[in-house]
Order: sequence, then structure tokens, then C-alpha cells
Amino acid sequence: MRKPLVAGNWKMNSPTESSTILLENILHHTDQLKKMIKDLNTSSAIDIAIFPPAVYLREAQEILTGSGIHWGTQNVSAFDEGPYTGEISAAMIEGFGCEYVLIGHSERRCLYETLELDQTVLDKIVAQKYEMATRHNLTPIICIGETADDYEANKTEEVIARLLDVLIAHKGPKALSETVLAYEPVWAIGTGKSATPEWAQDVHSFMRERIAKHDKATAESLQILYGGSVKADNAAAIFAKPDVDGGLIGGASLDVEEFIHICFAAALKAS
Ligand code: PEP
Repeated sequence: MRKPLVAGNWKMNSPTESSTILLENILHHTDQLKKMIKDLNTSSAIDIAIFPPAVYLREAQEILTGSGIHWGTQNVSAFDEGPYTGEISAAMIEGFGCEYVLIGHSERRCLYETLELDQTVLDKIVAQKYEMATRHNLTPIICIGETADDYEANKTEEVIARLLDVLIAHKGPKALSETVLAYEPVWAIGTGKSATPEWAQDVHSFMRERIAKHDKATAESLQILYGGSVKADNAAAIFAKPDVDGGLIGGASLDVEEFIHICFAAALKAS
């Protein structure tokens, strides 16, 4: 049984004062969640990870250390160090006690796309970031998903297979056992239009099968999250699908009650 993970991506939200309040509230509500999980009588639990803007990592470290909640960054540089203004290295992130890093989020890809880099180059940048994260003991959550145009053109599997193949070629299939994948259809992110549970299941199952062709055990143990307009009212149905191992949550992670309900939906799956 794979342990569900719920990851909260705050994006570029939350000013200093409210980031502290938000973290403390999450902590407080998580204690309640732990009691609820105990009532579910489940031996297995869930993992929760928070991704605040990098300037709030110190607060995250101070408030979340010892709580069982993990934290990480929304991006990492593809380079070790040097003249890369505005970038943050994996070593710096590791220094803040982070355990996870998001890689290849579509909102990051869009920034590069304005430079007119093609998708194959973008996939290689994702692979380089993946390399940096694992060198510094960070678990990468690698985001993969098709745009609305790809979806309309029936190219979902093609887009997903392309990045999976780059990742497998880069470090071998076994290395994926130390990563988390997140299927994030771009058309569902921040739009309020989530994929149906059936669609998410089909795509997750395609991803697992593609990896299984190289390494069955890795494919079986790998956590694959779904992300794209997950809310308290649709989380349980999406997470109930056999190949969905939790979610990457954007907007709803800024509302503590909503976020904790989503965590509870993941705990239900584990029970
Ligand atoms: C995200 O930012 O990864 C995301 C899935 O956002 P939202 O939940 O707001 O769609």
C-alpha cells in the first residue's frame, strides 16, 4: 500500500504575517486531523508537505520542525552555484530542512515558454533539476501534464510519455523510486475545472504502466499525485481511484479548513 501524500503549493501568496498564522493554523488543525485519523482506526497515515514561497522557509522550519509535516520549495535551480541571479540552489534549500522540491510546475514552464524554448529543451531542464534535487537529499515532486490544446488534440499520453522517457533515460528507472510524480493537467490548474476521477485514474495508470515496462517494482511503489482544482468536495472521489496517491493542491491549500478536509480525504483512502 502506497502512503498518500497531500502537498500544498502556496504559489506566490501570503505576506509575512499571514504566512506565520497560516503555518500555525495548519499545525493546529493537523493535530485535530491526527486525532480524526486515529478514530479511523488506521495504522497507516498520510504525509503532508507545505510549499510556501522561499522567503518563508525560515518560518516553516521554525514552526513545522518536529510536527511531522514536511516542507519544501516550489522550484530549484538546475545549477549548483554561480552567476544565476534570482535562482536558489538545492544545497541552499537543503539548509532550510526541506525534504521536498517541486520541479517542472506548469507555471514555471510558462515562464520559459515565453523564451520560446521548445518542450524537449524544457524536459531536459526538468531532468537537470531532478539531478540536483536528488544529489542534495531532496525528494522531487515532478509535475507532468498536458495543455488544453494537447488535451483537445488527444495528445495527453504523448506529452506524458515524452517527459517520463527523458527522466528514465537520465537516471534509470530505479531512481524514480525516490521521486514523486504529479499528474497536473494544465487546463485544470487554478481553473476550478478538475479532471474527472476516471480521467485521472486512466492517466495515472498509463504512467505506472510506462514505468513498469522498465521496472515493475518501482512502478508499483511510486507515489503519483493528482493536481488541478482539487477541493474538499472532490478530493475523496479522486483519491479513491487506485492509482491516485494523494494530491498537489494549489488554491485550496491557502484555506486551512479546506486543506485539512482534503488531507482527511487522503486519510480515508489509507484506512
Ligand atoms: C497547483 O498549483 O499545482 C495546482 C494544482 O493549483 P490548483 O489546485 O489551484 O488548481
